Amino acid sequence: MSISIYNIEEFVSDELINRARVIIDSGLITEVEEQGNGDYTAVVIGGSTYSVNIVLDKDANIFTHQCNCPYSAGPICKHKVAVILVLRSSFQNDIPISKGSLSLVNTKLVSCDRLVLHQLIMTLCKRDKRIRDIIKKELDIKPKL
Ligand SMILES: [Zn+2]
Repeated sequence: MSISIYNIEEFVSDELINRARVIIDSGLITEVEEQGNGDYTAVVIGGSTYSVNIVLDKDANIFTHQCNCPYSAGPICKHKVAVILVLRSSFQNDIPISKGSLSLVNTKLVSCDRLVLHQLIMTLCKRDKRIRDIIKKELDIKPKL
């Protein structure tokens, strides 16, 4: 059986559901946006600020799920569960979800000049150490000894 936003309780512990509800009730989920067909992003404020991405198929089955928190005790963290519950509630109550601009950004980046991209990434790296650390990790950049 597929994991969908409607049967998530069958796949995660009650404790995780309860923790997710606390996140929702505390108003810690912000910026829920639909970035494309079934592609949702949200920001969850916790020990740090976490970015959650949930991709659903046309039947609201969970296709992929990502969160940048350090949780590793199971396949799905409380942030993802919280966003899934928010999406479900929005769908069930016909609450519209704002359209994100990520696909517009994506379209622009695809056609961007290499030097412009380089400049943009360097600017972001100077502005935010977290971005710099992500890039160092992704590109396996280590300091010279
Ligand atoms: Zn998380």
